[in-house]
Amino acid sequence: MASSGSGARRLLVIGLDGVPSEFLFRRYKHRMPSTARLVDRGVRASLHTTDPPISVPAWPVMFTGVDPGTLGFYGFRHRAAHSYTETYVPTSDQVPVPTVFRLASDAGRRVAVVGMPMGYPPPAVNGVYISDFLTPPGAPEFTFPPELGSELTEKYGPYPFDVVFRSSERQELFEQIVSMTRTRFSIARDLLRREPWDLFAIHEVGTDRLHHAYWKYFDSTHPEFLPGNPFAGVADEYYQVVDEGISSLLDAAGPDVAVMITSDHGSMAMAGCFCVNEWLAQHGYLRLARPVPPGTRIEDAPIDWDRTTIWGSGGYYARIFFNVRGREPRGIVAADQIGPLQERLVAELAQLKGPDGRPMKVQVLDPLQIYEEVRGDAPDLMLYFGDLAWRSAGTLGYHSLFLRENDTGPDDAVHSTDGVFLFFDPRRPGPPVDLPQQSIRDVAPTVLQFLGVERPSWMQGRPIRLPEGQS
Ligand SMILES: [Zn+2]
Repeated sequence: MASSGSGARRLLVIGLDGVPSEFLFRRYKHRMPSTARLVDRGVRASLHTTDPPISVPAWPVMFTGVDPGTLGFYGFRHRAAHSYTETYVPTSDQVPVPTVFRLASDAGRRVAVVGMPMGYPPPAVNGVYISDFLTPPGAPEFTFPPELGSELTEKYGPYPFDVVFRSSERQELFEQIVSMTRTRFSIARDLLRREPWDLFAIHEVGTDRLHHAYWKYFDSTHPEFLPGNPFAGVADEYYQVVDEGISSLLDAAGPDVAVMITSDHGSMAMAGCFCVNEWLAQHGYLRLARPVPPGTRIEDAPIDWDRTTIWGSGGYYARIFFNVRGREPRGIVAADQIGPLQERLVAELAQLKGPDGRPMKVQVLDPLQIYEEVRGDAPDLMLYFGDLAWRSAGTLGYHSLFLRENDTGPDDAVHSTDGVFLFFDPRRPGPPVDLPQQSIRDVAPTVLQFLGVERPSWMQGRPIRLPEGQS
């Protein structure tokens, strides 16, 4: 379909969740002939993700050009305003600055977006927007404009936002992931053909789900890999499905459209889980009124708040909270004690040893130090264990600091810092250009520059310098 007629260039952005640059540029390239043609002629780099390396904040950072603190997003689940138990998952209307989709809309460009986070509720744009994998089940409206939703449901059945990937039925799950991805690319291809657009973007979550559910089956270097297992070929098969989807979009987009393929973070084998709250309890920071059974969630644990100074929550990284007097409902740490308490915690964590008795690297990140602004409900500290290879288990009751399996359901992969940046302009097909690692914050200004839309002064990222003749 034609552009809205401004004469400016058109851009197709394909976002593949959790794909390490190594996978796209080398390991699965032979399974992806259409993508490989872009890799062989485009500008390519590893894209350094956000701290923390999670889809939220990473995708909204990619398309706003500001850091997670400025957005106020630190993962999926946030602790609500210093409450001990209340949590929330942020939504698109909590993004405090306009995305490139909004900015392009405001500049009179037509946009079409399929599933790009933060996509729920579906943002109003000059074009169409289908909401993302964080759409609550049964949400009444998942598209802008709303009537598009009923049309899609009629043609394709219930829209596949996501799969339940921490489910144990692996064969069925693989079929669901493939079917979800095929449906989403079909819908994207239809929209791409019939809608006028200058900026088209699609997000596919299936790549991330495949990694989490099957890493130990397809990666022979995973500590739990079983030679000859029935799922050893799932990644080969799935990356081929993704390439077929990409190929159909390239065909529908036509020869003059520039293409950007990105991922929000990489993925790697999970080494195990470190039980952060068990450790805090062992070291006297967290006090329980009585012992709890294995797997007890911190929100359900009988915590003696009058004697607890620090607690945490789990996930790809540990969020650490101080129980501060005057801030938490039953806080006991005086303001002038926060500094010494933090110093002691950091010194003790530096002594941490893994289950093999060797030192476990613990990276301590202070939101106030690493972000340009700290909005929303930030943790007091963020901890990475073993260069992110160890997940953080927030549940309690194990009598051990380490778990072989994830505490919230089967999971074989964790997130790495290495995402994908690939840019191909058919007007300047050349030999491939390898750039050094780029920052995820720089994607939004690069998109705007290509579209000829002015970069707002609040944007912290800078356009990625595409080599001469590439922009
Ligand atoms: Zn992700």
